[in-house]
Amino acid sequence: MNLTPLPASFAVAPWRLSGVVYGALVNHAPQLAALGEAVHAAPYKAPPAHPVLQVRPRHTLCGPDSVVAVPAAVEVGASLGIVIGRTACRVSVDDAPGVIAGYAVVAELGLPLDSHYRPAVRFKARDGFTVVGPVVPASEVDDPDALALQVLVAGVLRHTGHTGQRVRGVAELIATVTEFMTLQPGDLLLLGADTPAPLACAGDAVAVGIEALGTLSFSLCEERVVPASVDECPATDGTDLTPRGAVARVAYAGAVHVAKPHPHGLQLADGRVLAEDQVQWLPPFEVGTILALGLNYADHLKELSKELTVSAKDEPLVFLKGPGALLGHRGVTRRPAGVQFMHYECELAVVIGRTARHVAAKDAMAHVAGYTVCNDYAIRDYLENWYRPNLRVKNRDGATVLGPWFVPAADVPDPHALALRTRVNGQLVQQGSTANMVNTIPALIEYLSSFMTLQAGDVILTGTPEGVVNVNEGDEVVCEIDGIGRQVNTIVGDGMFGR
Ligand code: CA
Repeated sequence: MNLTPLPASFAVAPWRLSGVVYGALVNHAPQLAALGEAVHAAPYKAPPAHPVLQVRPRHTLCGPDSVVAVPAAVEVGASLGIVIGRTACRVSVDDAPGVIAGYAVVAELGLPLDSHYRPAVRFKARDGFTVVGPVVPASEVDDPDALALQVLVAGVLRHTGHTGQRVRGVAELIATVTEFMTLQPGDLLLLGADTPAPLACAGDAVAVGIEALGTLSFSLCEERVVPASVDECPATDGTDLTPRGAVARVAYAGAVHVAKPHPHGLQLADGRVLAEDQVQWLPPFEVGTILALGLNYADHLKELSKELTVSAKDEPLVFLKGPGALLGHRGVTRRPAGVQFMHYECELAVVIGRTARHVAAKDAMAHVAGYTVCNDYAIRDYLENWYRPNLRVKNRDGATVLGPWFVPAADVPDPHALALRTRVNGQLVQQGSTANMVNTIPALIEYLSSFMTLQAGDVILTGTPEGVVNVNEGDEVVCEIDGIGRQVNTIVGDGMFGR
């Protein structure tokens, strides 16, 4: 690949990011060394073989001089933020520096953890817990893997470290991450913090410095729980999420259109009627943060109980996905050569329509705009026991299918009484009912909004029932939910992707 230099104007973008933040975890070499033989014992069973990553969604982002509300003492991790400047898909280590626009000081806040196996997302995915400093152009940083860093809390130096003490340095991290997920210009990849990180409390002023990048200052205050009434919550942030009847977004004849169902396929807003296979189907709404539930069906829980250490009494198992994973109806999903077990997961996707923070279950459904069908593919071969399920299993390019239709909540009398099923090449392989969810939609909204602000366009993938089996190249996978839609996807091999 021959990369020309980036235009200077890009490299001095303001702190507000246009993209998504992906953080590397357990990337501090002394941290892994300190775990010693424990990395080979349960629950980990082996040291991480690939980068351990987590999405830090939009509600966690804030800038310099912010005041971040905390429920208790938080760890303050000093992390190098790598600002991506060009689309990065399967980039080699040698080419990796060419996709970097710049760097930023990032403070990764988190509640202290005692395990890296499967911590609840509420430890890190809280409002304001990713503090991002100004972007410094890459040309001003000689060696990003050789920068001193420090953390001051209330004016006292509490931590010193070095960006070089990483399991994977900057270029290797970019290469190993982009092997399965594409990074876009404006995305931010965090190199990860030293562990243990120093603690700070409400009332503290915090300063995180990285050599050549400067110092990022912010402060902490006490989190107050003030339940908001539904009427006070702003509705849709510009996106019309309350249409009458089902709608889709499709590309046709060089433009993106809104479409509605028609007996012959679909009808564009301008009146044209088209067959399903005449258009490119896009995810049916502008997708914000993607929250996915693991093990949220009683039957699926039972099916997997042998390998699990969880029970239905535990808090919901939630993980986060990035937008690059999304694909529309009638798309193709890649099955890498050599894997043994890739499976679909048919799920009811719940789309948030208005801001939700500290919402009680009884008020929760007023925050739901509508629903769509999701097929949340997984490749079990890649499962590791660090921040499970890891993104290499669950956040692959084009492996989270949404659509075809966004169905308004008003058209779905009871979302907890919907039959769902999956057919592979016409054969019924999975069926269930949303009545068997362990955590219902109101319970999930109450839980999530207790530590994060849900916003219009955010989507909750509510889990899948039993019956997941392997799919192969050439298979047609159809996920259906009664009253919501019928979604088609085809599994393809590596050949279609060129490399
Ligand atoms: Ca799932």
